[in-house]
Amino acid sequence: MQYDWFNTQVKQRLRELYELERINPSKEIADAIEACKSQLFSKEPKCKRKITPQDAYYSEYLAFKKYELIWPELQSFANKSSTGITYDIHKLKIELTPKEISHLTYNFFKNGTSAKTFEDYMHFRTHQRHNVHFINKSPKALYAESFYLPYYKENYIQMIPRNEFGDVATLAHEYGHGIHFLNNYHKRWFTQNNLFIEIISTFYEYLLLVYYSQTGDYQEISLYSLIDNWEELKYAAGNVNTFLQYTDLMGLKDCYTKQELQKAISEFIQKQQY
Ligand SMILES: [Zn+2]
Repeated sequence: MQYDWFNTQVKQRLRELYELERINPSKEIADAIEACKSQLFSKEPKCKRKITPQDAYYSEYLAFKKYELIWPELQSFANKSSTGITYDIHKLKIELTPKEISHLTYNFFKNGTSAKTFEDYMHFRTHQRHNVHFINKSPKALYAESFYLPYYKENYIQMIPRNEFGDVATLAHEYGHGIHFLNNYHKRWFTQNNLFIEIISTFYEYLLLVYYSQTGDYQEISLYSLIDNWEELKYAAGNVNTFLQYTDLMGLKDCYTKQELQKAISEFIQKQQY
């Protein structure tokens, strides 16, 4: 199986944890067992149901509903002007090996973050020498993911590198999850609140791009990656904005039965096609 490495590590830890639980059970161990189990079993595809645009919009709507507070911000962001900067990304293509990707990430944490952050990063690097696994496959659905194990204070990372500069930012993002959890691990928050989960790690990714846009050999590509992210976010915010406006206009914001919402979404999709 393609993602064997990750699951082999987790399975090994799970066996140890069961043994520990047998000898001396505690809440900490029970939590760690839960974390392992959810990692191992959540990823297995249950059925290959075809997802319709209606289904996709519906689940997105439910997710957005949880973050109503940020809607006005999102709407104003969508209206911000474009940077207007154009560049040829192909001219900027930089080939990096996994070793170079790791080293550039190390360099950023060492010189571009606080002493405490660097210490936390080094916790994973030294305490857990093989915590990053690069998979040598052409990138498909999964690109990078990490798994934090609270009992052992370990963060496992696996990624399919594209061997480009963006991988450095992605690796910093995955370490960011580990640093986040190392300082503030709360299982219930993290499994139910996706926005909260991603905010710290995304922050490290941006910090890295800002750092490399100001120093060393990767200034141009870092700057353009930042601009790219800005444009992408604006585009996504624009789509969300249109969707939210439409469902608001339907007066469904507070009286959404599933059927009503699905009907509104179908109309919205039809309208988009013209
Ligand atoms: Zn993430």
